[in-house]
Amino acid sequence: MHNLQTKDQKDMLVSRRYKAENTIIEVKGCEIGGNQVVVIAGPCAVENTEILKETAFKVRGSGAVMLRAGAFKPRTSPYSFQGLGEEGLKILHRIGEEMNMPVVTEVMDSEDIELVAKYADILQVGARNMHNFSLLRKLGQVKKPVLLKRGMIATIEEWLLAAEYILAAGNPNVILCERGIRSSEPWTRNTLDLAAAALAKQLSHLPVVVDPSHGTGVRSLVTPMAKAAIAAGIDGLMIEVHPQPDKALSDGDQSLTPKLFSQLLKELEPIARACGRSIKYS
Ligand code: PEP
Ligand code: MN
Repeated sequence: MHNLQTKDQKDMLVSRRYKAENTIIEVKGCEIGGNQVVVIAGPCAVENTEILKETAFKVRGSGAVMLRAGAFKPRTSPYSFQGLGEEGLKILHRIGEEMNMPVVTEVMDSEDIELVAKYADILQVGARNMHNFSLLRKLGQVKKPVLLKRGMIATIEEWLLAAEYILAAGNPNVILCERGIRSSEPWTRNTLDLAAAALAKQLSHLPVVVDPSHGTGVRSLVTPMAKAAIAAGIDGLMIEVHPQPDKALSDGDQSLTPKLFSQLLKELEPIARACGRSIKYS
């Protein structure tokens, strides 16, 4: 059923049969993949310094340890906000340093890897690029960790094989991120597949993060799904937060306010504890 073997019947690098113990990835003193659950939060996109600074300050105060925000945005329409590019990377980097938070941001194009790696601590591969094998191969040559989102119609096997591309090309530091898949359901943006997150943990030693923001597309579903993800045994959460979601340039409908985010973190703690884990606060 699960065939994570190479042509000559060797176990693949991503598989737990190849490496039994969990891979722990260390980013500026912050470990992901260990006993503590890591929360990554921030707006969908870097919009300007003020908004990112306010968001970072508030999410850090509530318990997020890493900051996320896109500078290169993969938008469905070419007429939607595409991100601030290098200017956005500079803002993200500066605020990450100020707040002492490692930063995660998307790299959309192989040509931008060097640029993004200059400013980011973790490079994100977006769902739309999970099948971009030349990008994956090139990320295998980078020293920084890669957060690999599951493609929106990718099977679990395809997702793990995408990670295998990066590992096989020389970068062992890959974080898997379940962010929902397309289904026939119109009332949510995506269908968050927590079984895939749990199966990825069983089949692979790599850390698994769940993104309930893109996974549902609905603000009121982010909190219940984040709780369920912790109960399912994942290593981290990635959550979109915006000080004024109604004014966000992208993904406002699924963004939590800082207040809702702070409430969420309080509710996560007892769930983590009941599962023998804890939330990493700094
Ligand atoms: C994002 O994280 O903002 C993003 C674009 O995610 P995805 O690639 O999962 O749609
Ligand atoms: Mn988004």
